Amino acid sequence: MEDEPAIADLVRLYLGRDGFGVHLERDGTAGLAAARRLRPVACVLDITLPGLAGTEVCRRLRESGDWTPVIFLTARDDEVDRIVGLELGADDYVTKPFSPRELVARVRAVLRRTVGAPDGADRPRTVGPVTLDPARRTVLAAGTPVQLTSTEFDLLAHLMARPGRVFTREELLAGVWGYAAHAGTRTVDVHVAQVRAKLGPASVIRTHRGVGYAADG
Ligand code: CA
Repeated sequence: MEDEPAIADLVRLYLGRDGFGVHLERDGTAGLAAARRLRPVACVLDITLPGLAGTEVCRRLRESGDWTPVIFLTARDDEVDRIVGLELGADDYVTKPFSPRELVARVRAVLRRTVGAPDGADRPRTVGPVTLDPARRTVLAAGTPVQLTSTEFDLLAHLMARPGRVFTREELLAGVWGYAAHAGTRTVDVHVAQVRAKLGPASVIRTHRGVGYAADG
C-alpha cells in the first residue's frame, strides 16, 4: 500500500521482476480490505496513507489475529521503535528513500523466515520455563501461550537453538533477518525488548553487555 505513484511504481516493478504477484492499493481502507480478501504472503505498508494510516492497517490486521508479515515504508528513522514495537507487531521496515533492491531483499528475508526452519531444526525445545515449537510456531512461557510476530519468533528460536551461546547483534541480523550488518543493529535491540516484554518474568534472554544476547543455558 503506497499512495505516492513514483514509489508505488518502483515497488511494483522490482517486486514483480523478482517473481512476486503485486497488488497495489493507494488508500489504507481499501488496502485493509484487499489484505483480508487476497490473503497475501506479505504486506508492504506505507505509513502515511489516505483513508487509514499504514500503522492502523497493521494494528487492525493483528487485532483480528492476522499475522501476515508486514514490512513498513517509513520516512522517519525515529518511528522504528513504534513500528516494530509490541503495539504494532510489524516484521521489518525500510526507511525512505530506500533502494528497491533493499526492499526486495527484506521481503525475501521475511518470507524465508516465515516459511519454516531447515530440516532437523523442527524439534520443540525448552529453555527454563520457555518451550518453543518450530513446526507449530508456538511458544509457551511458564505454560501460557505467547503470541509473537514472525520476526520475534525467529529471533527467540535462533537464541534457543544454542542455549548459552552469545550471539552478537551482527550475527543475529545475519542469522535471523538474513541481511548484512550495515543494515543497522538497533532493530535487534528493539525486537529483543519486545520478546522479553511478551515472555514477562519467564524471559530467558540474557544481555551480555558490549557483546550481544544469549538464551540462558
Ligand atoms: Ca504516503
